[in-house]
Amino acid sequence: MRKTDTKALINYVALKILGGSDFILEALHEYLVKGEGPATVAYKYGISKHQLRGYAQRIIEKSGSEQKARKIMPILIEISKGIDPLVVKKGDSLVCKACGAKLTKDDAEDHVRKEHKDELKAATSIMSSRLEEVKQRLQVQKAVILSAAQ
Ligand SMILES: [Zn+2]
Repeated sequence: MRKTDTKALINYVALKILGGSDFILEALHEYLVKGEGPATVAYKYGISKHQLRGYAQRIIEKSGSEQKARKIMPILIEISKGIDPLVVKKGDSLVCKACGAKLTKDDAEDHVRKEHKDELKAATSIMSSRLEEVKQRLQVQKAVILSAAQ
């Protein structure tokens, strides 16, 4: 089984959130974890089934397996709480909150990656340190369960 590429996962999710596609965490949770049908989930979030499967594939690849991706989804949601998109909808168009640039869906992530490196770095470092906290908490839980079983 392939190892989980935590850094790549966090970078991917942080860029999606800042770029305005913050819905993908909920969408992937419904699709991968709750097992909702791709058509239902895609419709709900206004994307195509093809896009939804593409997002799922990326997360699965970086997680190492589909099983791991299912376990990681709730953790990704937890560690990204409070991280807000930089790119937001304004009427019919997308606008960057940080610099006021008008953007399209296709260039939103590129814009964040190129123009807002510091914000992206801040988001990934918050997520990484929260992930460490989650890992420690899970280890403590495991130790408690093991000692209770003895
Ligand atoms: Zn900007």
